[in-house]
Amino acid sequence: MVAALFRHVPIATVRTVRKVACFAAIPLLLVAALQASRPATSPERKLYTELNALRVDPARVYHIRRLVLRRDALRIAFEDGILGLFEPLGGRIFGAVFTGNARVLATPRDPAEKQSIARFLGAPLVDTTVNKAYLRFTDSTGEELEAFLRSSGAKPEENADFLAAWSPVVASLNPIISLRTLRDLESASPLPFFRATLGGSEHGTFEVSVDDRRREQLLLGQVKYREGGRFYDLWAMFPRQEGPAAPAIAAPLRFTLDSTVEDSLALRSRATLSLHLLRDGERILPLTLSRELRVENVADAAGQGLEFFQNEDMSEQEIQRHGDDVFYVVLHEATRAGQDLTLEVNYSGTVITSAGNGVYYTGERGAWFPRPEDSGEFCPFDLSFRWPRKLNLVATGNKTEELEDKDWRTGRWTSDAPTVTAGFNLGNFTRATAEAGSVRIAVNANQQLEEALYGLLRARSTVQGGITPVGWGRTTEAWRGADMAAMDLAAARAVPLRLPASVIVQLAKDISDAMLSLEQWNGPFPFPRIEVSPLPAALGQSWPEMMYLSTLSFLPKETQQRAGVAPRTRFSFSDLMPFHELAHQWWGNLAGAATYRDDWIMEGLANYCALLYLSSRNPSEHTLAQTLQDYRADLLAPLPQGSGIVDDIGPLALGQRLTSSLAPGGYPRLVYPKATWVIHMLRMMLQAPGAPTGPSGKDPDERFRSVLRALLESHRFRALSEADLRREVNRVMTPEMGLEGMRNVDWFFEQWVHSTGIPRYSVDYKTTASPKGLVVEGTLHQAGVPETFLARVPLYASGAGGKRVLLGWVVTNGAETNFRFSSPVKPDHILIDPNQTLLAAVQ
Ligand SMILES: [Zn+2]
Repeated sequence: MVAALFRHVPIATVRTVRKVACFAAIPLLLVAALQASRPATSPERKLYTELNALRVDPARVYHIRRLVLRRDALRIAFEDGILGLFEPLGGRIFGAVFTGNARVLATPRDPAEKQSIARFLGAPLVDTTVNKAYLRFTDSTGEELEAFLRSSGAKPEENADFLAAWSPVVASLNPIISLRTLRDLESASPLPFFRATLGGSEHGTFEVSVDDRRREQLLLGQVKYREGGRFYDLWAMFPRQEGPAAPAIAAPLRFTLDSTVEDSLALRSRATLSLHLLRDGERILPLTLSRELRVENVADAAGQGLEFFQNEDMSEQEIQRHGDDVFYVVLHEATRAGQDLTLEVNYSGTVITSAGNGVYYTGERGAWFPRPEDSGEFCPFDLSFRWPRKLNLVATGNKTEELEDKDWRTGRWTSDAPTVTAGFNLGNFTRATAEAGSVRIAVNANQQLEEALYGLLRARSTVQGGITPVGWGRTTEAWRGADMAAMDLAAARAVPLRLPASVIVQLAKDISDAMLSLEQWNGPFPFPRIEVSPLPAALGQSWPEMMYLSTLSFLPKETQQRAGVAPRTRFSFSDLMPFHELAHQWWGNLAGAATYRDDWIMEGLANYCALLYLSSRNPSEHTLAQTLQDYRADLLAPLPQGSGIVDDIGPLALGQRLTSSLAPGGYPRLVYPKATWVIHMLRMMLQAPGAPTGPSGKDPDERFRSVLRALLESHRFRALSEADLRREVNRVMTPEMGLEGMRNVDWFFEQWVHSTGIPRYSVDYKTTASPKGLVVEGTLHQAGVPETFLARVPLYASGAGGKRVLLGWVVTNGAETNFRFSSPVKPDHILIDPNQTLLAAVQ
């Protein structure tokens, strides 16, 4: 498996949520200390502090019955209990708490969301009783509660126990909501939210919310702990029925990043962001930046300092951004759509660490500079660096200068095209170059292996069995695991393992070869150069004009074998990863993914392209067929505790949500094999049915290539979505792909991308002689999927001497579909899809 990524989706999914509403109260002292860390100077910070300080109003506690709040697909019925309203702020009420009996009902419309809830809760909807509720809102809930109290004639009552019980909980939960509330209070066109943190005996503490600042406004989920990790289990997230999501506040026009890497490896940067404003009336602009980096100041174009909030609230973004952090800048004036805005942000922190033996790990590769939240926009980057002279630094873009000055080097890189991100890497590199047409390829390698990997290899070289590096899709990007305790670091240091230069030269040649091969599928390589550099971690990553490869990818396969690296691990790191990441230059960096729900397209296409290249390089090795078999076995493998098979983790369209407490490494475990299979099935369907040639009589993959090319041409340096892929497939689909007379392939995407399920097939048949020849008739049995599952299953007769003849296709229609074919041979047996055109288990 290749833990390979694009854009700014880090693999560290456990970091999804660090601080989410929970009824376990944070000690008041700690909250007070956090608030005191910054002086309350600006009006916005003063308001923020006031929001944090909001408490239940002792004069507004009521015994209530039958209060019902409805928000889209959400219904909370407060049957009987005590309701306490928050003290008003500026005449408005922003919160309330409840103790008693309440019933929560949430019913998403989308079947995939229902299925997701069912996986977490055992039923396709939330229908449960709770006894505590912490409500926060900027919508009309306050007015609604007051109107209810008036009309029901409820009288306020003294309840010291109620107040005492809620006081610490409110104190600990408020800071999580305050910035979200502040954004609406400071906005001339607020986008309100309603959020309830609920506690009951059935599901523990969970959250339901409707937030018009989210693209998918409705959210149901909870924090869960498992295997030492903290997860945010997103039971469901979907758009509200009425009203589209609001556009982003700003799109980037240009990033200018001026950075120094200190001797201590600390990064100190000044980022100049040119932004184009898309929405009116907002005073608070959310930007993402790694929490490892501390913002020192923010200024506007005139050099005036701006108030900002960093790391005060980590709930909303953690749910959505999977590890990227948000900080908020308070603008002097409200935004006006159509205008441009320039911001300067100074920040510093540690994102580079030493991995030993002169190897460095560059972390936070997608979040080392500030950018507008929710922005997948492409734009130019201008990077400048100053770094210790003893090190080499590589970066995305065209290096226009590099100078030396005593102990320091400086350099500047400008992007050749609008790009979705930018990055850098550094180390003590040796370098080899190659060319592919006019594209220049440079491979930078560490001169030694980092301590951890070398130690791991040494320790395991004497042990039976293969090693499987941990860290794929898990909490760590470094080599880590119980095995490391046994490693012999002293020995590793005494005999440093050097990489032979020939390996680096060969890798450069291989990448050149692969680039020319992939151009046959995807069109010209989108950049004039590619810079390859290592990461001491079990992952690869592809940035525009730059690839990070795991240090294991640089290690000769023979050395890996000697050290006991498992064959599939060797295949993943040495064979697949370099070309998977190379293919991401088209799929991820030329065209990007529009939302988290489209990430699978990039992973599937990048991986499939790599497999096509490997298959063309060594046709006799049948790499594609073998890998598809392995992937099928991976998807059919049982999950622990009898919770189904890997495919049951969830549909591809859930993206990073597949990683949860139920499946800690769920996203990479499912997405690589399944997305690769989905792309393969599309290619197989697009080949002319039953014929080795395409519509023009030459290329069987003419339609498939046409889909790839059209997508890349229509989305040059832009993001694409599943809808775009469907449209291109529909454009070139064969009549046979329109099962049940449909003129589109929606059935295919619904089954394979928005649902789970791998069909199992078996066949009963008999052969009879007729005047016209042999007739094979029988029944194809389909199991493991819903009755409505559609597939076009090819059946072959295997005759005497193993001769294989295509009988025809059976379009499944429920659990049993009858067929009748004439056959030129008397079948010894019938083969179901022997050429692997379908992801299915065949008996
Ligand atoms: Zn990838």
